[in-house]
Amino acid sequence: MIVCKFGGTSLCDASQIKKVSSILNSDSRRSIVIVSAPGKRDKTDTKVTDMLYNCHSLAQRAIPFLKQFDEITFRFTSIAKELGVHTDKIEEALNDIAFHIEQGVTADYVASRGEFLNALLISEFLGWELLDAAQLIVINEDGSIDENTYHTIAMAIDPDKKYVFPGFYGSTKEGEIKTFSRGGSDITGSIVARSVGAELYENWTDVSGIFMADPRIISDAKVIDSISYREVRELAAVGFNVFHEEAIAPVRQASIPIRVKNTNRPEDQGTVIVPSRDASQNPLAGVTVKTGYCRLSVEKLMLFKQNGIRERLENTLHTMGVFPELSAFNIDSIIWFFPSSQVANGLLESIASLLNKEFALDDAVCETGFALAAVVGEGFGKNIKKISHVYTALQQHSIHVVFSSFGISKTAGIFVVSESQAHDTVKVLYEDLLR
Ligand code: ASP
Repeated sequence: MIVCKFGGTSLCDASQIKKVSSILNSDSRRSIVIVSAPGKRDKTDTKVTDMLYNCHSLAQRAIPFLKQFDEITFRFTSIAKELGVHTDKIEEALNDIAFHIEQGVTADYVASRGEFLNALLISEFLGWELLDAAQLIVINEDGSIDENTYHTIAMAIDPDKKYVFPGFYGSTKEGEIKTFSRGGSDITGSIVARSVGAELYENWTDVSGIFMADPRIISDAKVIDSISYREVRELAAVGFNVFHEEAIAPVRQASIPIRVKNTNRPEDQGTVIVPSRDASQNPLAGVTVKTGYCRLSVEKLMLFKQNGIRERLENTLHTMGVFPELSAFNIDSIIWFFPSSQVANGLLESIASLLNKEFALDDAVCETGFALAAVVGEGFGKNIKKISHVYTALQQHSIHVVFSSFGISKTAGIFVVSESQAHDTVKVLYEDLLR
């Protein structure tokens, strides 16, 4: 059995849904499809999920929202009409949703309706059975999946039938609808794939797989043929967002491979994500960079003689909303890197003085303008030859590495550079290591 998930751009209008239908019907093993809400049809368009959030927000402020809601109604009914699907059930569901918004339901409930309506529409079009995620997926308070979910889904599925399953949401133990974070239909696909012990989880999107570098920086970046779960996680941690980072866990536990494919070019191989891969031929998977980081450094003589000082400093940072993504320490100093977006404007300047005051430090400095570059590949983090190659290549192009970290993960090396050199860093590393 193959479980397929199609993203919002793959389902944004009737002609895209027809492509999806022919992909599904071209392989009889494709018997369960997870759908997102209709996404953007072009750059200026708005995703249905965002339109729904907007209606909820208007209703919360007692501002009329029916004009905005009518646009959602129009979007679904015109897709249905173009596909020759009866609109009665969809219109009935839309009326019910508008009524519930008026009554003040939660944002999660409202946002989840994009996936629900699309699943309803697509199940009518394909003639496949509709399953409702709200009845089957239980999401715990901390966002994790209740273990019974896998069994419940497995029990609901007859292997001889075909199903449409809405992505992005489930419900709490109390039965209230709860969504995943944005882009979370990938997680639903992964949960369903694991529940039924799928041979493959296909993740259909609008690009032909995972690229070795961001194509906005390297226009002819190659697509990765095969990549391990761990490599995808490392790439996602530093800005790659082809696949939702939380979607790896369910399939990883069952060692189910994921294939990322392009709905608009189904003949392309795409990228397969596997439990582990033989990296002897291609030791590196990709390079990536994320800008917008701050560096906070503190110094105090005999710092580490004070028991628990590091924990107390980090707790103080947490109360300011700072959750560092990279840090290092030695006898008298600690350094942290964190995204500046974590801190409200104005507070950034005061972090250092606040810490200074509270901990009587010798020095505390908070600077902006850094970028984290990651070189990802099985074994890279311990491959001294490759690591020194990175330094040499960057140095030859006058790119100064202000901090680096390797050896923590076997799979990645992190190089902190100035934000102004972020793109050049990717270009140099791609040309030197991956071309
Ligand atoms: N529709 C949701 C979003 O826009 C979830 C998804 O597409 O995966 O984030």
